[in-house]
Amino acid sequence: MLNVEGVSKTYPLARQGVLGPRPVLDALTDVSLSIARGESFGLVGESGSGKSTLSRIVLALEKPTAGRVTFDGADVHALRSAALRDVRARMQVVFQDPYASLNPRMRVHDILTEPLVIHADRFPMTARARTDRAAELLSLVGLGPQHLHRHPHEFSGGQRQRIAIARALACEPQFLVLDEPTSALDVSVQAQVLNLLHDLQQRLGLTYLFISHDLAVVRHVCDRVALLLRGRIVETGPTEQVWNAPSSDYARMLLDAMPVPDPDLSPFNR
Ligand code: ADP
Ligand code: MG
Repeated sequence: MLNVEGVSKTYPLARQGVLGPRPVLDALTDVSLSIARGESFGLVGESGSGKSTLSRIVLALEKPTAGRVTFDGADVHALRSAALRDVRARMQVVFQDPYASLNPRMRVHDILTEPLVIHADRFPMTARARTDRAAELLSLVGLGPQHLHRHPHEFSGGQRQRIAIARALACEPQFLVLDEPTSALDVSVQAQVLNLLHDLQQRLGLTYLFISHDLAVVRHVCDRVALLLRGRIVETGPTEQVWNAPSSDYARMLLDAMPVPDPDLSPFNR
């Protein structure tokens, strides 16, 4: 479904002197990965390793310096506006910070129906049907219809992230990029949201690119994982294999740096 082929990304840095070549920062170097339909793929790396840069490139929000990204065979950076709009509806994103990603002045009803209005050509619906769909989306993420008329500040962090997930699901996407979706949440709430994401993936047959700095988080949701170190993939394989028998020092470091998770909070032990 998604193919990342030899993607590199450099950012220009400030010039040191007046002369000489402009230095660049290699945010990503020759990154390749492929994600099959229905698969949940984890991308794990320490802060600054290039994870969000890759997510922006996959979402066609930024162009790579080299390489390409295809979604269902189409090069996402070569698409013209109509085709790009179509791909944008089919691939959605949930960011780390639900405080920043939800408009504080909008009611939940409008937050959830806005994508349906934007993509009204694909989702011709009456206002009444959109409201019903908003309630259905809330129930999909474990919230009730009484929340439709509230504003984001009236919710906890975990509830807000549920609303961001519901919004991402509004246009029935096939593919979700989850960029540190639980990193801003308390550990106990993290487990609940991970559980929800795992559940939604199974129920809706979604494909995930799940980004985290924490291998333990990704382990709960992902079949396969790639480890990113300073913009390069240094290890990739089935999550359990990387978890149980890490082959690189970096994987061991990522594992050692992790707090031992409380088994009572694990989504699989409840
Ligand atoms: P991560 O999400 O893994 O923490 P990022 O992808 O945000 O990492 O950043 C990777 C590297 O690229 C960092 O060194 C960051 O400072 C740099 N970087 C990211 N975006 C930009 C940008 N727009 N301009 C310049 N440097 C950037
Ligand atoms: Mg990031």
